[in-house]
Amino acid sequence: MRQSLSPILDLIQFLTALDGKAFHSYRKLQGKVYAHDRYSIRFFHIQGSPGAFPASVCHLGLTHEELGLADWSLACRPRKIATADYLLRAFQLGVEKHARQNRGVQGSGSFQPISLPPQVLERNIVHFGLTDVRIAFRVSLPGSHDNRILGRHAALMFSEEMSVIVDTLKEQVCKTAQFKKHCDVVEDMVFLQQQLHGYGLVAFVGDGAVLARRSGVSQAPLTDGAVVFRAPAQMAVEVMLPNAGRQRGLGIRPGVNVLIGGGFHGKSTLLDALSKGVYPHIPGDGRERVVTHPEAFFICAEEGRAVNDLDITGFINNLPGGVDAERFSTNNASGSTSEAAAIVEAVQAGARLLLIDEDSSATNLLIKDRNMRKLIPEDPITPLFDRVRELFRRFGVSTLIVAGGSSDYLGVADHVIAMRNYLPVSMTDRLRGLTLAEPGKPAKPLMFEDKRRVLAESFDPSYRAERIGKTIAVRIKPLRLQERVLEFGNAQLDLTKLKALADPSQALAIGYALLLAGRICRDSSLSPSDLARTLCERIEKEGLAVLSPNKDDTCFFALPRRLELAAAINRLRRLKVVLGKDETL
Ligand code: ADP
Ligand code: MG
Repeated sequence: MRQSLSPILDLIQFLTALDGKAFHSYRKLQGKVYAHDRYSIRFFHIQGSPGAFPASVCHLGLTHEELGLADWSLACRPRKIATADYLLRAFQLGVEKHARQNRGVQGSGSFQPISLPPQVLERNIVHFGLTDVRIAFRVSLPGSHDNRILGRHAALMFSEEMSVIVDTLKEQVCKTAQFKKHCDVVEDMVFLQQQLHGYGLVAFVGDGAVLARRSGVSQAPLTDGAVVFRAPAQMAVEVMLPNAGRQRGLGIRPGVNVLIGGGFHGKSTLLDALSKGVYPHIPGDGRERVVTHPEAFFICAEEGRAVNDLDITGFINNLPGGVDAERFSTNNASGSTSEAAAIVEAVQAGARLLLIDEDSSATNLLIKDRNMRKLIPEDPITPLFDRVRELFRRFGVSTLIVAGGSSDYLGVADHVIAMRNYLPVSMTDRLRGLTLAEPGKPAKPLMFEDKRRVLAESFDPSYRAERIGKTIAVRIKPLRLQERVLEFGNAQLDLTKLKALADPSQALAIGYALLLAGRICRDSSLSPSDLARTLCERIEKEGLAVLSPNKDDTCFFALPRRLELAAAINRLRRLKVVLGKDETL
């Protein structure tokens, strides 16, 4: 369905003629396509006020030939994802370098920047056709104080500025070595992630990696004084990558891995890099050769979260006040109950590697020493220490746990790594001669069956604005200034503790996936993890567009993992379930 194109000169004339008219007259652009000799602009969705957030959506269209895209850049799925990511970063660079921005009031007259994390994610912003590429972008059309159109400024944005943005795109594509490296690194990482099992690993950290970040609020690599990663001989493995070839690094094996070391020696930094290593990273990030099992999940305490009818008896029993741990529900979980719930939910959802840091955990869920066991026999908690071997033996779930303050976990460890001056040292053979703690023997075996069946009413996206007495049918958006807290209808969904979640566009995709979940649950009776699996299958089959209401494609989504989808469902404060038949894992 090709639409007839008007030349870009028509657009310039049209915008100039709109100058001074009421802002909503921009709406006349909606659906129109204008062609330059090198690119086309489609006005896809036009907002009616200068301060509207999110802003209007346009599509920039270019042919592969015009851009100079070579076959290798689109040869397989990882390369397509990498190329899309590269083009987005190039577009962003063009905007930063050449767009004047803020031409009108309230930040209008700007190409809206997208913040791209160092992780490379699958997104719906760039679309590859057989011969052309479409890049969606948000633009806030320029408006004046009295809500009038600044037509001349708009004309400049879509002619001169867009033209140099396109030049930048082409320049970046022409930098073949840089572009190819972007694709190679992503392809290597995805390849190795698929091969981890074959190498007998659950994670790999390549020699040469720079794990430390510039600051606690930055994702940029530390440059001054960064100690470059190198695996100790006893734990070194070599892998073969399709592009980089032979690569040496630290191999982390299945089982119980314990990471010890003095304070400030780099334990949390390594664990953080591994949590994020479920996605490829861009070249230059320093973590591009950190590759983690695709079903790794960071577990932490999350006080205050909701837990819904979850059986946490594997870790918590005999709660005071007759609280039922077999159907544990709370709107305000404690550190230990939230972490127990996180483990149960993650394993139910298919996690195969649990990443745990004592810094962000409830200590009483991790360990209980001999004296405490004697003094407080009524303690409801069975610590993870008593379960961690069972998790691996019976369910194949590995762990990597940072334990700097207690030697307990050494007694159950398969592999012990110490961080010393930011470098790993193998300690597995150094445990002889130490008296190590022994885990308790829990009365009942661990079970992860989930009898919960989610009801469709859990997903009510309607927003009731009491103040003005109005109801909006669907409201899904990030909470102002907190991009990982979603407003879903009148409820808020806090995703800040999901460490692998790399981008607010993933959080938004989760929000819209919950909308689809509501539709699915009308016809099916599914546990939270089966629901997450069904959602992933739908996205895999129909693309991220399946999440867009009315298929209008104005939301910029990035693909979330099944584990984060399940985690989001489990965190809904309004999750309603009924208990169905047994369904053992
Ligand atoms: P731990 O968890 O062992 O207490 P952290 O991982 O929090 O230590 O690291 C302590 C500090 O050292 C942080 O500021 C971190 O950025 C920095 N750091 C970590 N790894 C490196 C490294 N390889 N080179 C330089 N600095 C590092
Ligand atoms: Mg730490």
